Amino acid sequence: MINVFRGRQHIWNQLKINQNIGYHRPAFQPGVMRKAMARLDKYVQKAKELKMANALIISPSDIYFDIRAILKCRWGCEDFFNQTIKCNTRDTSVQERIEMIQAYRNILLVHSHDARELSKAVLEIERTAFSDGHYFSFAIRFCRLCKSCAVDLGKSCPTPNKVRPCDQSFGIDVYKTARRQGLPCSVLQNEEDIQNRYGFVLIE
Ligand code: SF4
Repeated sequence: MINVFRGRQHIWNQLKINQNIGYHRPAFQPGVMRKAMARLDKYVQKAKELKMANALIISPSDIYFDIRAILKCRWGCEDFFNQTIKCNTRDTSVQERIEMIQAYRNILLVHSHDARELSKAVLEIERTAFSDGHYFSFAIRFCRLCKSCAVDLGKSCPTPNKVRPCDQSFGIDVYKTARRQGLPCSVLQNEEDIQNRYGFVLIE
């Protein structure tokens, strides 16, 4: 099921955020708001075409940040220990990464039951948004593009330009962020359990 974004309340929230962090705050214009909603719905529909389970437009204030997300990956993830391309944060600070997210007004939260399909979908949506003129569009998603990851086998990544950062390195509490949107996210108990994977596309 694809959720349509929440419309007016969200737009008000984003205006409040913009005011708080010093971005230009446009005057309230219902016509402009309707056009913005129609424009962004394209990406929700795109996610649907790409067989995603859910997609909705959220704002930075809907994303929960928690220092524990970052610190747990320092000790719990072998990719971080090996400093692979999948975990590398490219000399950015945590503060810069969070500020990056907060500079956007509209973000597509994408839900899938398939990790690889999700990685492919967020890149495709990022590309579409870029072609539409959202030149800062950017996906956040731990890379699962390849069936068999060359990096995991100790080789070089054949497509490093397609690797996007891991949400944990941004300190995103994905569990809380997804659950607050009414989406399922829990620790898997068995291999057969349905997976609930999430990715983000920062659009504009
Ligand atoms: S080899 Fe494939 S899965 Fe591994 S980091 Fe590169 S693109 Fe991602």
